[in-house]
Amino acid sequence: MRADSLLREVLGYPKTVVEDVWFDRSGQVVVSVRPVAREQRRCGLCGRRSPGYDRGRAGRRRWRGLDLSAAVMWLEAGVVRVNCRLHGVVAARVPWARHGARHTREFDDQVAWLAVKTSKSAVCELMRIQWRTVGAIIARVVADIDAVTDRLEGLRRIGIDEISYRRGQLFLVVVVDHDSGRLVWAAPGRSEATVQAFFDALGPDRCAKITHVSADGASYIANAVTKNCPDAVQGVDPFHVVKWANRALTEVRAQAWREARAAAATEHKQAHGRPRKDATAPDRSASDRARQLKNSRSALWKNPENLTTKQKAKLEWIQLNDPKLYLAWQLKEGLRLTFKLPATQAEAALDHWINTARDCQIPAFVKLQRSITTYKNAILTAISHSLSNGRTESVNTKIRLYTRIAFGYHGPEPLIAIAMLALGGHPPTLPSRT
Ligand SMILES: [Zn+2]
Repeated sequence: MRADSLLREVLGYPKTVVEDVWFDRSGQVVVSVRPVAREQRRCGLCGRRSPGYDRGRAGRRRWRGLDLSAAVMWLEAGVVRVNCRLHGVVAARVPWARHGARHTREFDDQVAWLAVKTSKSAVCELMRIQWRTVGAIIARVVADIDAVTDRLEGLRRIGIDEISYRRGQLFLVVVVDHDSGRLVWAAPGRSEATVQAFFDALGPDRCAKITHVSADGASYIANAVTKNCPDAVQGVDPFHVVKWANRALTEVRAQAWREARAAAATEHKQAHGRPRKDATAPDRSASDRARQLKNSRSALWKNPENLTTKQKAKLEWIQLNDPKLYLAWQLKEGLRLTFKLPATQAEAALDHWINTARDCQIPAFVKLQRSITTYKNAILTAISHSLSNGRTESVNTKIRLYTRIAFGYHGPEPLIAIAMLALGGHPPTLPSRT
């Protein structure tokens, strides 16, 4: 096999003629290409064969391709402009890249694959691009998928949620299909208008086919659902309720820590006046107590079966030294376990929980008990209709991970694009693999 046909084979661009290859002055590989004859003079937007307009303003243009071995590789070609019947004067389509892109299609696809599989720094370092470029590439890949799929087709049972990002400053409304576990829609905002935009996109015919909707109890979501899907059964997803309980536990722990810290400060002042008598009881010293509480987060939050030995010891310490915080933890755990019970036992267990929490004398949990009483029927509805199948929760958790990855982008669009790409049911594939 001759070297040039070998190269053509290796590069494997469809509908593309390789004209020449050389190293440029910086040691990067440049491959001169052109579309095969029947691919020339097609509109970059619709692909329609169109009369030529001119030879383009840019003259010859380069696209970054995947590295050739370890060398950076560029494709170079002259780009003509065509006069499309529909789109007017536009750059002609090229088979190796998406319209308007400065990277080849396979470069885009590999970046998209990496972006959902690995860390931000790994993508940037491996592909030698800026994070901002990754955002633009993901947007292109998602737009490609959206052009040929209807994510809202066939929806019956959905979950509508609010996700906060930018340290709780900004919000997204996301819609998940309970049956497929896919993320089907997301938009910035947290208002009835945001949810209405989803139902508008769905249209009245498909709204009528929605049978079940789970949410987090927010009235703006419930209002929009009632307006658009009056016959749908509405439930409150138990994982949201566990989240409320975690929030209440955070409050109790924060207060315990503040109190211990204040006591430590007093103790410190006294110690300067006269030597402390009880220096042999380290767990009783207020500063030690503050330190123990400060590092207690993961022991309190994780499910007990997943605790490390150290975290278990921490929990035991809390049990011995802070009965109130321990009771708060027990209430949170009790609630979580209630939702693991079969639907037939859930109601009695929830009633029992409500009775215990009502008398616990911890304000955050008394308040939680009131909300749970309000939403009790909606919570039980979600359980009995299996709207709490964990899929929505897992999508919700994963989006939260992506909010951290997408941090550093301006605006919510790259976050939505990366979440859609990862959780929308059309995962990116590596070039040349099926
Ligand atoms: Zn066109």
